Order: sequence, then structure tokens, then C-alpha cells
Amino acid sequence: MPFPVFLALFGVTSVLLLRLLFLLRRRLPRLDAAMPRTSPPRGDPEPSGIRVAVVGAGPSGLVALRELLAAGHDAVAFEAGQGVGGTFAATYDGCLLTTSSTNTAFSSFFPEGEHVMWTAREYVEYLGRFADRFDLWPRIRFGARVESARLAEGRWEIKVSSSRAGDDVATHHFDNLAVCTGVNSHYDLPAFVGQVPL
Ligand SMILES: Cc1cc2nc3c(=O)[nH]c(=O)nc-3n(C[C@H](O)[C@H](O)[C@H](O)COP(=O)(O)OP(=O)(O)OC[C@H]3O[C@@H](n4cnc5c(N)ncnc54)[C@H](O)[C@@H]3O)c2cc1C
Repeated sequence: MPFPVFLALFGVTSVLLLRLLFLLRRRLPRLDAAMPRTSPPRGDPEPSGIRVAVVGAGPSGLVALRELLAAGHDAVAFEAGQGVGGTFAATYDGCLLTTSSTNTAFSSFFPEGEHVMWTAREYVEYLGRFADRFDLWPRIRFGARVESARLAEGRWEIKVSSSRAGDDVATHHFDNLAVCTGVNSHYDLPAFVGQVPL
């Protein structure tokens, strides 16, 4: 099949599938019967005395922070951006998730209401409610980019630059480190024929 024809067919099929997905958005069957419901508060856990730095406050960083706190660790997240949500907070208008809310939500915080295909904005709102529910906000440092992390004498030494404090770089020490920076922070563009230099 000639490449332009393939491309046209691929484009049309993709648009039709996305449209179908959008139409089905509010008609998904309830798949959650066997899913765990929102976790009850676990009460105050026994403090472990272990300090943990979480890098990133996208979905992975938020859930890591919540689980570490629930286990009694003294955890803090450093987020380079100004809000939670990671990739989904910075994507294009109209971005619709390809995973349903049933599959995307954390089992510790199941969403109320119908199970739908969230827009990126709805998902970021859900993540905000997750942070509310588990009181994560005071534990997140926004505008704080982790510039480096190195293990020195059994502890992690991390250097953090703050968008609020100009070029200042502060050094912090932690027992453990959870790197939740995702895969989209750096682009990895393959070389191909006819490439226009960026
Ligand atoms: C258009 C699009 C649609 C997608 N749709 C879906 C979908 O439907 N379902 C799905 O499951 N997945 C989807 N994905 C994949 C999605 O990106 C990941 O599932 C999700 O973002 C992973 O979350 P994360 O927390 O690991 O990383 P990210 O969301 O990338 O978050 C990483 C965070 O780390 C921060 N950070 C990075 N470096 C540093 C640093 N040095 N210091 C401090 N902070 C730092 C960033 O600012 C960011 O907030 C989609 C991705 C794209 C681009």
C-alpha cells in the first residue's frame, strides 16, 4: 500500500476511534465491583525516623508520598513545577486519557460517581483531591528542582534549586530517595531522513 494512502487510512481510523471513545465516555459499564474502595484513614502511624525525599509530584510522586507517610516515614516531595499532576498538568487542551478512571485511579482513593474517560484536567483535579484527602500539600515543595543526588556515607545528599530563591541551591540530606520524575522530562527524538533541526 502506498505510504500516503496508509497515512490517510491511519489518520481517519484514529479520528474515528477517538470519536467513538469520546461517545462511549459516559457509557462505560461499571467495572469496579471487585475494586477496593477508598482506604479508611489508617490513623497516626508509628514514626519510623526515616527521612525520604520524593522527586516529582506527578501521579507516581503523589502516591509514593502518600504511601511513605502512611508507613510512618518523614517524607517530603520536591516538584520543579508549580502544581501536582506532572505530564497531565502540562499537556495540550482537550487531552483525553486512554485509560478509564477505574483503571487510572489509585485504589486508596476511588473516585465518586460514574466511571468515565477523564480529560487530563479532570485527572489533575482528581490528583488534587487525592492530595487534599491525605493532607499531602504541606509535604510538597513546589518550584523546587532537584539538580543532583548522590549517596555520601550512606545518606542521600540532594541539591535543590528554588524558583523562588533565585539561583540559590540548598543542600538536604535524606535516608532514602524515591525518583518519580517520569519519562517525559527529557525528549528523545530519533534521527530520521528529512528531519528539520529544532
Ligand atoms: C498525551 C499523553 C497522554 C497520556 N495518557 C495516559 C493515559 O491515558 N493513562 C496513563 O496511565 N498514562 C498516560 N500517559 C502517560 C503518563 O505520562 C504517565 O502515566 C504519568 O505521567 C506518569 O506519572 P509520573 O508521576 O511517573 O511522571 P510525570 O507525570 O512525568 O511527573 C513527573 C514530575 O516530576 C517533576 N520533575 C522532573 N524532574 C524533576 C526534578 N529534577 N526535580 C523536581 N521535579 C522534577 C516534573 O515536573 C513532573 O511534575 C500519557 C502521556 C501523554 C504525554
